[in-house]
Amino acid sequence: MPHDSFGRPINYLRISVIDHCNLRCVYCMPLRGLSFVPSGDLLTADQIETVVRAAAKLGFNKIRLTGGEPLLRSDLLDIVERISRVDGIDDLGMTTNAILLPEQAVPLREAGLSRINIHLDTLDPQNLKRVMRFGTFEQIWAGIEAAERAGFAPIKLNAVVVRDFNEVDVVALARLTIERDWYVRFIELMPLGGGECARLSLAQYVPTPETKARIEVELGPLSELPPTSPSDEARNYRLEGARGVVGFISPVSEPYCGSCSRMRLTADGKFHLCLLNDDELDVRRALLNGGGEEAVSKILLEAVRRKPTGHRLEQGVSTERRAMFQIGG
Ligand code: SAM
Ligand code: SF4
Repeated sequence: MPHDSFGRPINYLRISVIDHCNLRCVYCMPLRGLSFVPSGDLLTADQIETVVRAAAKLGFNKIRLTGGEPLLRSDLLDIVERISRVDGIDDLGMTTNAILLPEQAVPLREAGLSRINIHLDTLDPQNLKRVMRFGTFEQIWAGIEAAERAGFAPIKLNAVVVRDFNEVDVVALARLTIERDWYVRFIELMPLGGGECARLSLAQYVPTPETKARIEVELGPLSELPPTSPSDEARNYRLEGARGVVGFISPVSEPYCGSCSRMRLTADGKFHLCLLNDDELDVRRALLNGGGEEAVSKILLEAVRRKPTGHRLEQGVSTERRAMFQIGG
């Protein structure tokens, strides 16, 4: 497994397969002024497979598909099948808003997808319209049920906490874990892309301690659970007597850069070295020039070597050239 220049083992590749989305979450995608990667410039399924094969040979064993909204990619099943057949990849997950899961959950499972994280910011239909804009609660809930029926387990829900939008709704989301063996994880806002989403993410930020306290006041104490893996970005807790888990992902108030094991690949074929920095290395150009796994390995090793030590949000530095939907979280 490759190590970066700070000795961190890097074995987890997050692949954005598309930058389009059928939602417009307020902190991720602005309503206007969007430009997308032309479909001809997206990495093809074949190119993605080459990158994954190269990564697996270097010791990467964990892949997550993201976007934009990955379910909008018309050849997603082909991509999943190809990746699931690569020797050495033992964990293939996807992060999605679940809107299109009712049709796709079963085929995805059959194609080899092992895990799904579903993004749902609130159980309140009105608030959901405000924060996730183009989606409805019924659509996302149907997607969650489809994922469960298809056998994805455990169900993991991700909610971004946004002041004046859904910060009080965290209680109802956390309450789901009492009856269900689900993970419900709360994510702190991060400012990316320099535009209106970044400004909103700074202005409406809610620190994890506040979210945790709000849940404990209503639902009782949260007992901390041991970490599932050293690179798990969430700190996990359980409500008394609950079947499921409440997690907090706190990149701002409690950065986990020291145990980062991630490399990211953008939909247009750049290794993005750290979510909260702009540094990238182009791999698509090498693929277009006829480079194969060996060429990709060289670029990927260089990308790992150049990974920054951590983010510098507290100094006002963040990713300026890409917003969250253009990287994948
Ligand atoms: N569309 C899919 C989804 O929403 O899960 C996958 C892509 S989305 C960019 C990946 C994750 O990024 C989402 O789960 C969302 O919670 C998170 N996200 C988006 N913008 C964010 C922001 N400004 N701060 C923190 N998390 C954000
Ligand atoms: Fe779309 Fe996901 Fe971004 Fe929401 S967070 S706009 S669902 S890419």
